[in-house]
Amino acid sequence: MRLLVVEDEQKVANALREGLEGEGDEVVVERTGEDALERMTHDTFDVILLDLTLPGCDGLQVLSTCRERGVETPVVVLTARDTLEDRVIGLDSGADDYLVKPFAFAELLARIRAVVRRGRVTETGPLAVDSLEIDRATRQVTRAGRPVELTAKEFDLLHYLARYARQVVSRDTLVREVWRETARSTTLDNVIDVHISRLRRKIDSDHPVKLIHTVRGVGFVLREDAQ
Ligand code: CA
Repeated sequence: MRLLVVEDEQKVANALREGLEGEGDEVVVERTGEDALERMTHDTFDVILLDLTLPGCDGLQVLSTCRERGVETPVVVLTARDTLEDRVIGLDSGADDYLVKPFAFAELLARIRAVVRRGRVTETGPLAVDSLEIDRATRQVTRAGRPVELTAKEFDLLHYLARYARQVVSRDTLVREVWRETARSTTLDNVIDVHISRLRRKIDSDHPVKLIHTVRGVGFVLREDAQ
């Protein structure tokens, strides 16, 4: 799994990184709310661990902003403020779970597994964005009810963009998650462009609502409009 840890206390951040990497997870640490929000515009995660007390933009602001932007990654809030009010606010603003510091690492792992499991209930169900529907069980795609024929790689690419719909997916992420390569190259960038233009032709060309958008210098986003 790939986790984003948003935590300004170096000691806590390091302990989380070490523990999670020990479980075989990939960990990215951001120390401020602003950096975390910036990171979410060009990177995708399976779970976000979010400290509430951050310098500047605090955890609750990060949470409400990322939910407003359509980021649906499960969020586990980490808080030292053990008050009922904060817990309620945390869950109302889109957190999936919370843990009060100090907590046992085993407890954190259990919570992470639980939110990911809940998230994965929909992992095999159909994905829909506007009139695009993706049946993940049969790998069939329709736009406005009409079947769309895709190659295996085109399907993988479209599925990844749809799974993280309304989030910008960077070229680096596509290289890693769809092409399963460790490093970007000019050749691979061209291959990605070719696949994106084929998907545009197959998915968008006959429809007034375009779904596949380029975010210049970063990557791509699948969403209903250009915003
Ligand atoms: Ca803190």
